[in-house]
Amino acid sequence: MGETLFAKIIRREIPADIVYEDDEVLAFRDIHPQAPVHVLFIPKQAIATLNDVTAEQAGLLGRLLLAAADYAKREGFAEGGYRTVINCNEHGGQTVFHLHVHLLAGRPMLWPPG
Ligand code: AMP
Repeated sequence: MGETLFAKIIRREIPADIVYEDDEVLAFRDIHPQAPVHVLFIPKQAIATLNDVTAEQAGLLGRLLLAAADYAKREGFAEGGYRTVINCNEHGGQTVFHLHVHLLAGRPMLWPPG
């Protein structure tokens, strides 16, 4: 897998508005927000897509989602609600091939999505 700009964000080589970090997860604001709150939760380990997650890495997926839910609780919008999204490959709309969970909040979300 070629390196993505998210790897550069992890190494602080390009700037990002980082809102959360632990040993395995980094979260930062999306540069083109699609909602009043739009944060990306990424593993520090480079995994290209959801298709590439192994059974051994299942816990990491859980930790990404829990980091998003904890952030929603801390920021006070968990009760009001939010959406988490993982886009995978072309039909999923994935453009950056470093696994990430979008956390969107601050407005009602449409369903079904476009
Ligand atoms: P996806 O289309 O699911 O691969 O999502 C990639 C997301 O990364 C998009 O929502 C972009 O707006 C976002 N993005 C791209 N470059 C940056 C950056 N330098 N900092 C923060 N978010 C970015």
